[in-house]
Amino acid sequence: MKRVKADVGRLPKNAKLAKMDVLTRQQRSRNMSAIRSRGNRTTEKAVRFCLVRAGIRGWELHSSALPGRPDFVFHKERLAVFIDGCYWHGCPKCYRAPTTNKSYWSQKLIRNVTRDRAITRILRKGGWRVVRFWEHQSKKSASSVVRKIRELLISG
Ligand SMILES: [Zn+2]
Repeated sequence: MKRVKADVGRLPKNAKLAKMDVLTRQQRSRNMSAIRSRGNRTTEKAVRFCLVRAGIRGWELHSSALPGRPDFVFHKERLAVFIDGCYWHGCPKCYRAPTTNKSYWSQKLIRNVTRDRAITRILRKGGWRVVRFWEHQSKKSASSVVRKIRELLISG
């Protein structure tokens, strides 16, 4: 049996998702359908870390009290924050349609985007402010995402 040793040293500390690269295609498609359509854990952790470092408190992670289980919920300020995965939510900058099973994936994408909009609408109707970031934004600069969150918290 051939073993591939992962080059862990070169990965960022939280890059657990890099493990997906060693899965077979079959496992991967099973996994992909099981993964909820949210930003990946690495970017979410980066934002979490920045929130803590900025001394911003009073948030709840993945609150199931709200529709869509926002990534961060500030109950007191009634602010719901989503970090949408570029792939699953059709980021105009990053999304590339897969070349196989085109209609399956495009329908899935349409469902996700439609659900995102519906959830945003429901939350706003319920008096929540909703802000959505793309995964690539938080990957590029978690601190600018946190800066924006802070502005919203202050203005609320
Ligand atoms: Zn993107």
